[in-house]
Amino acid sequence: MLNIAIDGPSGAGKSTIAKEIAKRLNIIYLDTGAMYRAIGLKAVRLGIDTEDVQGVTGILDSTQIEIKYEIIYLDGEDVSTAIREHHISKAASNVSKIPAVRLKLVAMQREIAAKNNVVLDGRDITSYVLKDANNKFYLTATPEERAKRRYKELIEKGQNVDYETILADINDRDYNDTHRDFAPLTCTEDSVFIDSTELTVEQAIEKILSYIKM
Ligand code: C5P
Repeated sequence: MLNIAIDGPSGAGKSTIAKEIAKRLNIIYLDTGAMYRAIGLKAVRLGIDTEDVQGVTGILDSTQIEIKYEIIYLDGEDVSTAIREHHISKAASNVSKIPAVRLKLVAMQREIAAKNNVVLDGRDITSYVLKDANNKFYLTATPEERAKRRYKELIEKGQNVDYETILADINDRDYNDTHRDFAPLTCTEDSVFIDSTELTVEQAIEKILSYIKM
């Protein structure tokens, strides 16, 4: 199977780029962040503190997550829009530190990758989920550039946010993602490192495509 793994911090453009690469190669795109967001959303809706390990672990067995054609279903409900709310980013980052959450979602991700040609983006795909993937990338940009992009995106969606808060959130999530005990975000030695700060989306896509081994 062709497995393309793209890791990197929040707001580096991974999902936009991964989606487009999947389209051009006519393969599946799997947004692993959306899966963590769905669990975060469920915890928030149930009033469970997203840092409460026991509380969040307790809802996992009765939580069903499915992804079909880039639509994510939580217990049968399409939550593709709800998981993009700004406050769910932090909830996702919190629940993603909980080992039981990761084990559940990693098992699903590995199963999908074993059966399909797929582009996956996330934080631990190259280092943990698909260590043996044939194509591995680490996509990043400066925190300020990532905050600028996220700010623009949320404003365009009509959300009421300010730049400083977004930048603080990005720094906070970077810290969480790189410092957690279980499968933290890191650029593995065998990943191609791409800094997109000065690149357009198209340039980043072309750069990645130029490295892909079929
Ligand atoms: O990529 P996105 O911002 O949608 O991911 C939401 C959160 O889920 C991230 O902040 C990160 O903490 C977590 N995540 C993760 N591992 C992945 C994908 C996302 O820990 N493979």
